[in-house]
Amino acid sequence: MRVEQAEVLGGDSLYESAKKIYPQKISGRFRSIKTALLFITLGIYYFVPFLRWDRGPNAPGQAILIDLDAKRAYLFSVEIWPQEVYYITGLLVLAAMTLFLMNAIAGRVWCGYLCPQTVWTDLFQYFERLTEGDRRERMALDAAPWSVNKVLRKTAKHVSWVVIAWWTGGAWVLYFNDAPTIVKQLATGTAPMAAYGAIAFLTTTTYLLAGHMREQVCIYMCPWPRIQAALTDEYALTVSYRHDRGEPRMPLKRSEKAKAAGLDIGGCIDCKQCVAVCPSGVDIREGLQVACVQCGLCIDACDTVMNKVGRPDGLIGYDTDVNMARRIKGLAPVYRLVRPRTILYAGVIAVVGSVMLYTLATRAYAGLDVIHDRNPLYVKLSQGGVRNGFTIRFLNKRPVERTFVLQVDGLPAGAAVEAFGATTVMGVEPQIVVGPDTSREVRVVVVVPPHSGLPETTPITFRINDAVFGDKVSTSDFFKMPKPEEGQTP
Ligand code: SF4
Ligand code: SF4
Repeated sequence: MRVEQAEVLGGDSLYESAKKIYPQKISGRFRSIKTALLFITLGIYYFVPFLRWDRGPNAPGQAILIDLDAKRAYLFSVEIWPQEVYYITGLLVLAAMTLFLMNAIAGRVWCGYLCPQTVWTDLFQYFERLTEGDRRERMALDAAPWSVNKVLRKTAKHVSWVVIAWWTGGAWVLYFNDAPTIVKQLATGTAPMAAYGAIAFLTTTTYLLAGHMREQVCIYMCPWPRIQAALTDEYALTVSYRHDRGEPRMPLKRSEKAKAAGLDIGGCIDCKQCVAVCPSGVDIREGLQVACVQCGLCIDACDTVMNKVGRPDGLIGYDTDVNMARRIKGLAPVYRLVRPRTILYAGVIAVVGSVMLYTLATRAYAGLDVIHDRNPLYVKLSQGGVRNGFTIRFLNKRPVERTFVLQVDGLPAGAAVEAFGATTVMGVEPQIVVGPDTSREVRVVVVVPPHSGLPETTPITFRINDAVFGDKVSTSDFFKMPKPEEGQTP
């Protein structure tokens, strides 16, 4: 296929082969921000599973835990049950809106500073520099024939990458198990197979994505650059080259001579330091590109060069499309942080966040799911009464055993409620005991006496009450009756 394409295109391949990028070390404001965020985000990821949180007896003591066996997610004092999966939906909406808001204010700031691909690539590059040296040394090492020095340096690099990748996969598993316990099990080879499988998978993907694929992931695999481009507007801050100040560019010595001759030259000395430090190999002077993750390192590089040659810095900086155009016209820049889209995103974040906080603060510690029998909907009894069957799941979200009293409202006089397996049955109020932090399914039948006068469908309400904790929960359903035959009362 590639041969045919090459023939059609007169010998050229449709695909450009990836060029290896050798980013150069740089210091500056944005490098410091990136380093600080790297420590914060990786610190959170690697060490949060070891944070303890006392939830009392019968509950796990890990601050953040996704317990797949018990079907629970724990986030400090919040415990999320499978029935409360809407909290996860809420969190996803908040995450998406926060990303949109960040994009509306400062473009791909997520990509440049916080995206796991960026953070881990940054960490891998640090160890690459440590073992193989900075840009020039790495280029020379790659070009040099194999030697003991080259083998040792390459081995050290790959070993350090594998260790980081392995620790990354290992940390992921800690979020799904009690961290100290699973660490001991991993160390003694007694952990579940799923844990070894997850670690092996994440070790491999981290090693490949952060070690080898790097900027190719951002350019070809990640959808966010395209989505971001569709979402952004001319008021979002992006890393931009100041054409009005930089052009016409000229090497330093020539530009000094040209200046002395009275020619109008730009500030850019075409040193290409901005390209050398770029983790994506982008030349920002050619305008905004999909490969540019907006990390700001080219700003640090250019400012360093400008300070060295005694020219004003800021040739590359965060700016908006509007201001780029205004500057070319000689107009003062304008910034509009408050715009319809930023108001919309912030508004959705405020509303969804408030609703989630309110529901979390007022959430019930008991729950009730009722499923009416589908087939048959009702049963006519030989004495003339009608019976409906239900499957009811009682949820006890407290870490102690509790007794719920079940009541059914909306039934006629003489109706009876029976819960199979209930501890005691007293008239129409069965009592159901549910263990700590668990749920219990109980079969319940409701029987109405003959000639009850109920229509085909009667709304009824199931209520549970725990007198000890005062939790009351209710849910609605229906009592179904046969269709009355002509001339007969139900
Ligand atoms: S062009 Fe500048 S901001 Fe964009 S990725 Fe490269 S160094 Fe980062
Ligand atoms: S670092 Fe600055 S001066 Fe050097 S090429 Fe880039 S924009 Fe021009």
